Amino acid sequence: MGRRILVIEDQEQNLYLMKYLLEASGYDVVQARDGKEGIAAARTERPDLILLDIQLPTMSGHEVARALRTDPGLSAVPIVAVTSYAMPGDREEAVDAGCTGYLEKPIDPDTFVAEVAGYMQQDPRRSEAAPAGHEGETE
Ligand code: MN
Repeated sequence: MGRRILVIEDQEQNLYLMKYLLEASGYDVVQARDGKEGIAAARTERPDLILLDIQLPTMSGHEVARALRTDPGLSAVPIVAVTSYAMPGDREEAVDAGCTGYLEKPIDPDTFVAEVAGYMQQDPRRSEAAPAGHEGETE
């Protein structure tokens, strides 16, 4: 059973590279080119992980992460920010916005898939303070 990854990225070359590397490793890739499209795809496609470019048109990656985290159905999905080396402040802000972690651009084809897989194995709920067995959950 293939794991589904949503890639939200506006730059065609980066999108192509990430999609190519992930599909070569057996993942199903859903792509979106801006935040609005990405949030809609997250709701309909139910990805197992979201790769989120921080520098997006219209809505920043940080805004997208905050919006995704307010959706109860998506609150547990790992979100991995893809940040530029030139923008170090992006990382802290990405984590503050609800991202599980971050990867650095440029994408390194030798390590990219392994890093993504590492984030997929984490349970993001473990990092939250909420106790186990909280009420009001719906399946
Ligand atoms: Mn971008």
